[in-house]
Amino acid sequence: MRRVRLSSRLNVSSGDAVARKKKSAPVFGTVALVGIGLIGSSLARVMRREGLAERIVGCARTRRTRAKARELGLVDATFASARQAAKGADLIVICSPVSTYAAIGETIGPVLKSGAIVTDVGSVKRAVIDALAPHIPDGAHLVPGHPVAGTEHSGPEAGFAELFEGRWCILTPDDATDSSAVKRVTELWRRAGSRVEIMDASHHDLVLAVTSHLPHLIAYNIVGTAADLESVTESEVFKYSAGGFRDFTRIAASDPVMWRDVFLHNRDAVLEVLGRFNEDLSALQRAIRWGQGDSLEELFARTRAIRRGVIEAGQAEEPGAGGAKPKARARPAKKNRGNAAGKSSTARRSTSRSGR
Ligand code: NAP
Repeated sequence: MRRVRLSSRLNVSSGDAVARKKKSAPVFGTVALVGIGLIGSSLARVMRREGLAERIVGCARTRRTRAKARELGLVDATFASARQAAKGADLIVICSPVSTYAAIGETIGPVLKSGAIVTDVGSVKRAVIDALAPHIPDGAHLVPGHPVAGTEHSGPEAGFAELFEGRWCILTPDDATDSSAVKRVTELWRRAGSRVEIMDASHHDLVLAVTSHLPHLIAYNIVGTAADLESVTESEVFKYSAGGFRDFTRIAASDPVMWRDVFLHNRDAVLEVLGRFNEDLSALQRAIRWGQGDSLEELFARTRAIRRGVIEAGQAEEPGAGGAKPKARARPAKKNRGNAAGKSSTARRSTSRSGR
């Protein structure tokens, strides 16, 4: 598996150095967002706040979302079709559900200008490359990406500029990808507050199957099981939900279409880790049945240490801390510049950020 530290591959000494050096200059001329939901609108907000694009245009499926994006000041113009949005753009960021990618690739491919960069934010990467790569013409570049950041909310109102702060963004270009295109997409994410890592697409899918996809599947399943146990649901499930169930309900409230697509497009990796999970669950079942307290305690002690490691890596919010406190790249709060796009939304206050 190829897994290269970006700094060595691109000869960049540190992300912070790059961000400082080019703080005032936009990274791109026109950026086209295909999809202006949680992720697309968060990217628009941080691009506005940091001056990362000269012009932002957007495309969404419904008129309502396009109107909302304009009303919030997220974009300078909206288009009903991805083709119109992508025409003449320097960077096209696909921020729609993964199942829409092949059709979007087909429609934008013919209008991509020479030197245009196509990137995306999809939660799976191998299937995304298979869907998009055939449509990228010579002279244009595909740099697939995945910001490992999200919430359970959807739509343009749900986004906020700080979503990517301190989070990883994984890029999965192949060896033939133009390195200057990779470098520019890297700079965009670094200036959006993320730490960037280059990874092989299949390796990404396996890692995320463990860290994100399986936990979501477990949450969907446990909440579904509870809902099916009608004798204890109704009021009791809600009333006593503080006992762990509440956290699962938050994850299981995640967007149904997005997660349907994740499981359908990362099938092999998810099935692989699910097989392993089932084996481990059977071992736990046996330990409970035979009263093997030592085995249970040993596992729980190991998992407690893992939680500490996650907190120390700045990837978790501590209870009562009032929000994520990423260790890396903590920045002072910026003054609101009077643009709705740059404001922290209500969603930010009532939302728990997590890696997705
Ligand atoms: P979202 O809030 O539901 O937004 C999706 C956007 O895509 C909406 O603006 C929607 O328009 C638009 N869209 C849907 N079909 C389209 C099409 N055929 N052409 C153009 N636009 C279309 O979803 P999201 O949470 O931002 O997720 C978007 C992507 O980010 C997904 O690929 C997901 O895997 C990835 N991602 C999500 C998270 C997360 O936590 N949510 C984290 C990391 C990565 P309408 O509103 O008009 O329907």
